[in-house]
Amino acid sequence: MQPLIDRHGRVATDLRVSLTDRCNLRCTYCMPPEGLEWLPADDQLSDDEIVRLIGIAVQRLGVKEVRFTGGEPLVRRGLVDIVGRVRALDPDVEMSITTNALGLAKTAGALAEAGLNRVNVSLDTVRSDTFQEITRRDRFTDVVEGLAAAEAAGLGPVKVNAVLLRGVNDDQGPELLQWCLDRGYHLRFIEQMPLDAQHGWSRDSMVTADDIFASLATTFALTPAREPRGSAPAELFLVDGGPATVGVIASVTRPFCGDCDRVRLTADGQVRNCLFARDESDLRLAMRGGASDDALADRWLTAMLGKAPGHGIDDPTFLQPDRPMSAIGG
Ligand code: SAM
Repeated sequence: MQPLIDRHGRVATDLRVSLTDRCNLRCTYCMPPEGLEWLPADDQLSDDEIVRLIGIAVQRLGVKEVRFTGGEPLVRRGLVDIVGRVRALDPDVEMSITTNALGLAKTAGALAEAGLNRVNVSLDTVRSDTFQEITRRDRFTDVVEGLAAAEAAGLGPVKVNAVLLRGVNDDQGPELLQWCLDRGYHLRFIEQMPLDAQHGWSRDSMVTADDIFASLATTFALTPAREPRGSAPAELFLVDGGPATVGVIASVTRPFCGDCDRVRLTADGQVRNCLFARDESDLRLAMRGGASDDALADRWLTAMLGKAPGHGIDDPTFLQPDRPMSAIGG
């Protein structure tokens, strides 16, 4: 086993795999209403290619956690099969998906049976009209049903990720938290990052972790949870003395890059050592050119060496990556 270590001594054990760049929502902070120019079908990894690369990561490179994402991973037809095949490769690898939960009500049982451990559901509001305003789709009920199905299928603890947007839902944090507490879902707020396709993000208008904390503190007593943060990005707080918690992920204002243990594989087979990386390493081309597992593992190890010490969003020279979040894998 050769760990995915970078020049700053960080070891990546958490692999985010994007299964598609397509999505069935159109969240305003992610992509334009008409969608994006999607990856050509030939450029996307096949199910076999994805399973092969995950196998290399898990069996040779020390990856312990695999998170499927996108785009929207549930729109990938082979998802249940891919989960089952990865589970067959390794009974212990922690496997989860980050999803908008559309259609999860139908597939949660099959995913659990195939060996998925958990789901992270993205939900920014519990008001149907605000949901439609943010996602440009009238699908709030599907998400609620998807969440319930995931819980019933044993894909818990169910985590909910939320982004707050100034003037849209930044006054809805306490309501969202109460809704999650009532259902036993673990809520985490994430600061909006400069990863939207429209390049509309601005540091001045983003809702910061401090804003989120202040808003929640109007309704709940929040105290730091005792456990150390480690490489987990969420700053965890006990809600009203616990045991329930809420997380606030200050990706922009208090970056946790020094503890980063992540690596990403895009739907077209590029290794990215950081969400904000400007370079990628092409495993698809190498694989389709006949590279052995050893050669692919070597390429992957080399790709990690150049991982930057931090994302540098606050640096005046910061440049947003060419690909948006939906094409990298959130
Ligand atoms: N479709 C899946 C979902 O909704 O969870 C997976 C992909 S989506 C890009 C993953 C997460 O990224 C979602 O929670 C979404 O809210 C978040 N996201 C998208 N653009 C973002 C941005 N600019 N800053 C912070 N989070 C963002």
